Amino acid sequence: MTTPGQEEKRYDPRDTTLKFVNKPDALDAFPPEDGDRCLCAEMSCGHAVTPQSLTGWCRSLLDQGQYKFKCPALKDGTVKKCDKEWSYQEVRRLAVLTASEMAYFEERMARLAATEYCEFKTCPGCKTHVEREDQSNLSVMCTICTDEKKKVYNFCWQCLKEWKGAAPRSDRCDNDGCINAVLELLKNCKTTALSEEILGPQDPLLHLVVVYT
Ligand SMILES: [Zn+2]
Ligand SMILES: [Zn+2]
Ligand SMILES: [Zn+2]
Repeated sequence: MTTPGQEEKRYDPRDTTLKFVNKPDALDAFPPEDGDRCLCAEMSCGHAVTPQSLTGWCRSLLDQGQYKFKCPALKDGTVKKCDKEWSYQEVRRLAVLTASEMAYFEERMARLAATEYCEFKTCPGCKTHVEREDQSNLSVMCTICTDEKKKVYNFCWQCLKEWKGAAPRSDRCDNDGCINAVLELLKNCKTTALSEEILGPQDPLLHLVVVYT
């Protein structure tokens, strides 16, 4: 057993699930001379890595808030980045992640993915990430588009199109097909018909009745 972080991670040369290549480490800007080179394995994109360089690169991505692992190496003979996305499964295997590294990676990835999903959406106008401040209002203003167009630009948090109709609203905008999947499901419940007779279709109590019937 080695102490994590103390000794350089290396591939097991007998591991037949990896493709070992005699190429310099594509993630290392200053790869060592041939003689003291670590054993490199090939990623799905064709670039060679060592466990150490791959762990370091992916960890730096997580620390910058990126949970998608993309190859930073340059395509052969060009100045274009490879940019191919590696799956976590691939990274885990080729970076020879230790148990504690795996725990760290998985926790960060889950947290970053959740944050992006819940609090940020892509503005349909400028494609940047926009944060929603008022959780009860589907109409969200994009400051970049508002600046650019010199008039207030709101988009719909639910259908991700330019906002249509009156605001604030929490159920939908006036764009066709803008629906709340959960409310729609409730509407199709059998009990709804009964409750609607008593409460009327617009009564906010209706949703409670449906949930608790
Ligand atoms: Zn690559
Ligand atoms: Zn925008
Ligand atoms: Zn909408």
